[in-house]
Amino acid sequence: MKKKIIILGSPGVGKGTYTRLLSKEFGLPHISTGDMFREHLKKKTELGKKAKKIVNEGGLVPDEIVSEMVKHRLAQEDCNNGWLLDGYPRNINQAETLQSFTKVDSVLRFVADKKVIIDRLSGRRVCKKCGATYHVRNVPPKSEGICDKCGGDIYQRKDDKPEFIKTRLKIYKKQTAPLISFYQKRDLITDVNVNSEYEKRYEVLEWIKEKFKD
Ligand code: AMP
Repeated sequence: MKKKIIILGSPGVGKGTYTRLLSKEFGLPHISTGDMFREHLKKKTELGKKAKKIVNEGGLVPDEIVSEMVKHRLAQEDCNNGWLLDGYPRNINQAETLQSFTKVDSVLRFVADKKVIIDRLSGRRVCKKCGATYHVRNVPPKSEGICDKCGGDIYQRKDDKPEFIKTRLKIYKKQTAPLISFYQKRDLITDVNVNSEYEKRYEVLEWIKEKFKD
């Protein structure tokens, strides 16, 4: 099986949700650079202090910092058999850096319409404790403001506020979207349509599993 897999797609498309499911299915670690930064912010580490404003306002953390963090993470033992890399690379420079220290077997690109993406981003809510994601309308928790899975508090990410959503989508279009042709040229991309509602996620998952079986 192809085991070193990049997860590509616009913010809000559902990369986190699908990658969590795929991680269980494939038995591969889910490496999310966004989650790693949020963890640094929560723990108020040196890196967290440096990245706080950028992450909260939807900008990109400097390439050297992110690439160093990813290189270090992929060198850990649980990554020996492969990984699902979600949120990195975010631009051509990061993609080239990644190539300099590892090979990539495949790129899964999640695709949805812009209005679906904006709705997912603006309605997203996250558990402070375990990171589980909800949506105010489509996937509400059973009791308002409380995580079904761990009882933690549910909040809205600062960068999911309307003014920062705009910035993130602009950055995606300008800096991250060029990665599509970068990986198409290398014949690595599989497109996954994720316009369908949350209830259909297991059908999408089956579709991906079918594509990856060999
Ligand atoms: P995400 O959860 O993937 O949307 O990431 C949240 C935030 O973390 C982004 O808006 C950036 O500020 C930062 N971040 C995550 N991955 C990267 C990356 N590869 N390059 C630069 N900044 C990143």
